[in-house]
Amino acid sequence: MQSTENINKCDVLVIGGGPAGATISTKLAQMGRDVVMLEKEQHPR
Ligand SMILES: Cc1cc2nc3c(=O)[nH]c(=O)nc-3n(C[C@H](O)[C@H](O)[C@H](O)COP(=O)(O)OP(=O)(O)OC[C@H]3O[C@@H](n4cnc5c(N)ncnc54)[C@H](O)[C@@H]3O)c2cc1C
Repeated sequence: MQSTENINKCDVLVIGGGPAGATISTKLAQMGRDVVMLEKEQHPR
């Protein structure tokens, strides 16, 4: 769970933690971006 302060300061906000969202979040974080990913479902399902 992230605070809204992190969301306001992040470089990239990714909505959805499926394969696409998880992949791009990981790649951007590895490139040094400050990434926040939001997922509405509880995982693992
Ligand atoms: C029944 C079924 C079976 C499948 N079986 C296979 C298989 O065996 N092998 C295979 O390779 N592919 C399979 N697929 C395809 C695979 O699921 C998709 O290709 C893949 O999930 C697409 O990834 P995605 O990240 O684009 O979207 P998604 O996986 O749909 O991810 C989107 C995410 O965004 C979240 N989200 C949506 N709206 C919001 C919001 N407002 N706020 C926060 N989060 C949100 C969702 O909860 C979800 O976790 C199957 C698909 C279905 C429907």
